[in-house]
Amino acid sequence: MLIRLASGLQKDSIVDGEGIRAVIWTQGCPHHCPGCHNPTTHDYNGGYLVEVDEIKKEINTLDDEVGVTFSGGDPFEQPEACYELAKYIHSVKLNVWCYTGYTFEELLKKSDTDSNVMNFLKEIDIFYYEIWFHYPDLEQYLYYSLK
Ligand code: SF4
Repeated sequence: MLIRLASGLQKDSIVDGEGIRAVIWTQGCPHHCPGCHNPTTHDYNGGYLVEVDEIKKEINTLDDEVGVTFSGGDPFEQPEACYELAKYIHSVKLNVWCYTGYTFEELLKKSDTDSNVMNFLKEIDIFYYEIWFHYPDLEQYLYYSLK
Protein backbone atom coordinates (compact mmCIF):
# COMPACT_ATOMS: atom_id res chain seq x y z
CA MET A 1 0.00 0.00 0.00
CA LEU A 2 1.23 3.46 -0.88
CA ILE A 3 1.02 6.71 1.07
CA ARG A 4 1.70 10.19 -0.30
CA LEU A 5 4.03 12.12 1.99
CA ALA A 6 5.34 15.68 1.98
CA SER A 7 8.69 14.63 3.44
CA GLY A 8 10.47 11.76 5.14
CA LEU A 9 9.78 10.58 8.68
CA GLN A 10 10.91 13.35 11.02
CA LYS A 11 12.60 12.17 14.21
CA ASP A 12 13.25 13.90 17.55
CA SER A 13 10.46 16.49 17.32
CA ILE A 14 9.61 18.27 20.59
CA VAL A 15 6.89 20.53 19.13
CA ASP A 16 4.38 18.07 17.67
CA GLY A 17 2.86 16.67 20.84
CA GLU A 18 3.96 15.44 24.23
CA GLY A 19 7.50 14.12 24.62
CA ILE A 20 10.02 13.38 21.92
CA ARG A 21 8.14 12.28 18.84
CA ALA A 22 8.48 11.24 15.22
CA VAL A 23 6.23 12.96 12.68
CA ILE A 24 4.61 11.58 9.53
CA TRP A 25 3.99 14.55 7.20
CA THR A 26 1.18 13.54 4.85
CA GLN A 27 0.63 15.32 1.54
CA GLY A 28 -2.77 16.61 0.38
CA CYS A 29 -5.21 18.86 2.21
CA PRO A 30 -8.59 20.37 1.20
CA HIS A 31 -9.03 22.89 4.02
CA HIS A 32 -6.96 25.98 3.10
CA CYS A 33 -7.09 27.28 6.67
CA PRO A 34 -6.08 30.92 7.02
CA GLY A 35 -2.50 31.14 8.32
CA CYS A 36 -1.64 27.52 7.53
CA HIS A 37 2.04 26.85 8.29
CA ASN A 38 2.37 24.16 5.63
CA PRO A 39 0.76 25.35 2.36
CA THR A 40 3.15 23.24 0.28
CA THR A 41 1.42 20.14 1.68
CA HIS A 42 -1.99 20.97 0.13
CA ASP A 43 -1.39 19.76 -3.43
CA TYR A 44 -2.67 16.20 -3.90
CA ASN A 45 -0.07 15.63 -6.59
CA GLY A 46 2.79 17.06 -4.55
CA GLY A 47 5.26 15.24 -2.34
CA TYR A 48 6.00 11.64 -3.26
CA LEU A 49 4.54 8.16 -2.96
CA VAL A 50 6.18 5.63 -0.69
CA GLU A 51 5.28 2.12 0.48
CA VAL A 52 3.73 2.03 3.95
CA ASP A 53 6.07 -0.89 4.74
CA GLU A 54 9.06 1.40 4.21
CA ILE A 55 7.71 3.79 6.84
CA LYS A 56 7.13 0.86 9.20
CA LYS A 57 10.81 -0.09 8.85
CA GLU A 58 11.80 3.47 9.77
CA ILE A 59 9.46 3.44 12.77
CA ASN A 60 11.25 0.29 13.90
CA THR A 61 14.50 2.24 14.14
CA LEU A 62 13.12 4.87 16.56
CA ASP A 63 15.01 4.98 19.87
CA ASP A 64 14.04 7.93 22.02
CA GLU A 65 10.54 8.67 20.74
CA VAL A 66 7.47 8.06 22.90
CA GLY A 67 5.11 8.28 19.96
CA VAL A 68 4.39 9.25 16.40
CA THR A 69 2.32 12.25 15.27
CA PHE A 70 0.40 12.37 12.00
CA SER A 71 0.37 15.84 10.49
CA GLY A 72 0.36 17.32 7.02
CA GLY A 73 -1.50 17.93 4.89
CA ASP A 74 -4.50 16.23 6.36
CA PRO A 75 -3.88 12.63 7.40
CA PHE A 76 -7.60 11.88 7.02
CA GLU A 77 -7.27 12.32 3.26
CA GLN A 78 -5.41 8.97 3.32
CA PRO A 79 -7.22 7.08 6.07
CA GLU A 80 -6.45 3.55 4.91
CA ALA A 81 -2.68 4.02 4.78
CA CYS A 82 -2.67 6.04 8.00
CA TYR A 83 -4.74 3.36 9.73
CA GLU A 84 -2.20 0.71 8.69
CA LEU A 85 0.61 2.83 10.06
CA ALA A 86 -1.20 3.76 13.27
CA LYS A 87 -1.92 0.08 13.99
CA TYR A 88 1.75 -0.69 13.52
CA ILE A 89 2.85 2.23 15.71
CA HIS A 90 0.68 0.90 18.55
CA SER A 91 2.02 -2.62 18.02
CA VAL A 92 5.53 -1.36 18.80
CA LYS A 93 4.23 0.38 21.96
CA LEU A 94 4.35 3.97 20.78
CA ASN A 95 1.41 6.35 21.12
CA VAL A 96 -0.40 8.03 18.22
CA TRP A 97 -1.37 11.69 17.91
CA CYS A 98 -3.04 13.27 14.90
CA TYR A 99 -3.59 16.83 13.66
CA THR A 100 -6.47 17.41 11.26
CA GLY A 101 -8.55 20.19 9.75
CA TYR A 102 -11.72 18.07 10.10
CA THR A 103 -13.92 18.35 13.17
CA PHE A 104 -14.67 15.14 15.01
CA GLU A 105 -18.28 15.37 13.80
CA GLU A 106 -17.15 15.74 10.16
CA LEU A 107 -15.01 12.65 10.51
CA LEU A 108 -17.88 10.66 11.96
CA LYS A 109 -19.92 11.63 8.89
CA LYS A 110 -17.02 10.76 6.58
CA SER A 111 -16.82 7.35 8.24
CA ASP A 112 -20.33 6.54 6.95
CA THR A 113 -18.87 6.13 3.46
CA ASP A 114 -15.32 5.06 4.34
CA SER A 115 -14.79 2.59 7.18
CA ASN A 116 -11.06 3.39 7.20
CA VAL A 117 -11.88 6.78 8.70
CA MET A 118 -13.34 5.12 11.80
CA ASN A 119 -10.57 2.50 11.84
CA PHE A 120 -7.96 5.26 11.86
CA LEU A 121 -9.87 7.28 14.49
CA LYS A 122 -9.89 4.24 16.77
CA GLU A 123 -6.09 4.04 16.57
CA ILE A 124 -5.57 7.68 17.62
CA ASP A 125 -4.81 8.50 21.25
CA ILE A 126 -4.88 12.29 20.96
CA PHE A 127 -6.77 14.04 18.18
CA TYR A 128 -6.03 17.72 17.46
CA TYR A 129 -8.52 19.76 15.47
CA GLU A 130 -6.64 22.74 14.04
CA ILE A 131 -9.17 25.25 15.33
CA TRP A 132 -6.45 27.87 15.62
CA PHE A 133 -6.30 28.07 11.84
CA HIS A 134 -10.05 28.20 11.43
CA TYR A 135 -10.58 30.70 14.25
CA PRO A 136 -7.26 32.63 14.63
CA ASP A 137 -8.54 34.69 17.57
CA LEU A 138 -8.70 31.60 19.73
CA GLU A 139 -4.96 30.94 19.29
CA GLN A 140 -5.31 27.37 20.41
CA TYR A 141 -5.97 23.89 19.22
CA LEU A 142 -9.02 21.98 20.30
CA TYR A 143 -7.97 18.52 21.27
CA TYR A 144 -9.70 15.35 22.26
CA SER A 145 -8.31 12.36 24.01
CA LEU A 146 -9.75 9.39 22.17
CA LYS A 147 -8.62 6.71 24.64
S1 SF4 B 1 -5.64 21.29 7.95
FE1 SF4 B 1 -3.50 21.75 8.48
S2 SF4 B 1 -2.35 21.56 6.53
FE2 SF4 B 1 -4.53 21.71 6.02
S3 SF4 B 1 -4.85 23.89 5.60
FE3 SF4 B 1 -5.42 23.50 7.75
S4 SF4 B 1 -3.56 23.95 8.90
FE4 SF4 B 1 -2.93 23.71 6.75
